[in-house]
Amino acid sequence: MAEFTMELNDEQKEVRDWLHGFAADVIRPAAAEWDEREETPWPVIQEAAKLGIYSLDFYAQQFFDPTGLGIPMTMEELFWGDAGIALSIVGTGLAAVGVLANGTEEQIGTWVPQMYGDANDVKVAAFCSSEPDAGSDVGAMRTRAVYDEAKDEWVLNGTKTWATNGGIANVHVVVAVVDPELGTKGHASFIVPPNTPGLSQGQKFKKHGIRASHTAEVVLENVRVPGHCLLGGKDKLDERLARARERAKTGGERVKNAAMATFEASRPAVGAMAVGTARAAYEEALEYAKTRSQFGRPIIDNQGVAFQLADMRTQIDAARLLVWRASWMATTGKKFENAEGSMSKLYASETAKKVTAQAIQILGGNGFTREYPVERMHRDAAIYTIFEGTSEIQRLVIARTLSGMPIR
Ligand SMILES: Cc1cc2nc3c(=O)[nH]c(=O)nc-3n(C[C@H](O)[C@H](O)[C@H](O)COP(=O)(O)OP(=O)(O)OC[C@H]3O[C@@H](n4cnc5c(N)ncnc54)[C@H](O)[C@@H]3O)c2cc1C
Repeated sequence: MAEFTMELNDEQKEVRDWLHGFAADVIRPAAAEWDEREETPWPVIQEAAKLGIYSLDFYAQQFFDPTGLGIPMTMEELFWGDAGIALSIVGTGLAAVGVLANGTEEQIGTWVPQMYGDANDVKVAAFCSSEPDAGSDVGAMRTRAVYDEAKDEWVLNGTKTWATNGGIANVHVVVAVVDPELGTKGHASFIVPPNTPGLSQGQKFKKHGIRASHTAEVVLENVRVPGHCLLGGKDKLDERLARARERAKTGGERVKNAAMATFEASRPAVGAMAVGTARAAYEEALEYAKTRSQFGRPIIDNQGVAFQLADMRTQIDAARLLVWRASWMATTGKKFENAEGSMSKLYASETAKKVTAQAIQILGGNGFTREYPVERMHRDAAIYTIFEGTSEIQRLVIARTLSGMPIR
């Protein structure tokens, strides 16, 4: 029986320190520039690829870390560097998880490497679920996938929005409706291979935060993809749809929705990103409070400031523990009986918003300027309570799970 420990092992500490070095030496110094440029920081992604930080191998290694802490540790360190640049580095992972969660071994082996490219020719990938009228309400999705049996092809039509790396990705993973009668149970995920005709980038959004990360609409006009691009394969889809139809008639075992499977797996990782941003802002605030003097003494000498820092650090540590618990549970095959994944994302994202706002307060006027990074961190932190399910949706998931009631 393994001894209980909350300590990272030596190998994990080594990886953490290596990532921290990259975040401190490469990401952080580039953060303000790419935030202003509002462009994908390709040179930084390339640098990460050269070092092996942007590669399928590295993420697979962290994903399969038997303790479950590999991915949260990675996210925390990279997002500590800068959220926008880090999302440009890890955004491909959401599409990769979409394939890992729903794809066959062959699909994983074929498509995930193409999502990353290699150090000499880096590529990114996009996961496209959200639509203008289907954000939290995934059931309102309209993008249709229709099977053309004669050609063994799927034909996709619709508009996706807010897709990270949308339109600039080598591989797009698109969630679409295959059976509108079944609501979210009638959805399936498809690979859209590189250079497929009919897929184009719509509007690129100008954003409040994480501005180095590309977010855009993806327009799908008669996009034809081969039958083997349906994640999981046709037989599995037909079985799943048959079970869903049966359940619709009789009630019975729940059938999992494809996009939801992706989100469940990725929520603790988003919590870890939020912990990284919160920790970065807290460290800036702590340092500033020790060095800034007013009334003849450092401002940290005042309980009004020191207690804020005490709360900030306590909440960050609590958030990390929830994230680690959820990641450990997911990796060791324990079911989220109490929506532990959602709890971790909810608490960590709300903590990041609160802590970055407090950091601005502690830095006073300087905190409000772009001369200091907490201003950017505060803008960046706002995303965590929105994407991958808003805080309200996390609360719904938690409340429904705890109560067994259809809370609205
Ligand atoms: C920068 C960025 C990157 C993104 N990346 C991706 C991506 O890569 N792929 C992708 O598919 N999507 C992506 N998204 C989309 C993101 O997941 C959605 O924005 C999110 O799910 C919320 O949907 P919405 O914006 O339509 O908000 P809405 O669903 O319209 O919600 C608006 C408000 O109403 C509240 N609300 C809605 N329903 C309820 C309810 N039942 N009870 C209580 N409150 C409710 C929400 O909590 C929110 O406060 C991204 C978004 C952003 C901003």
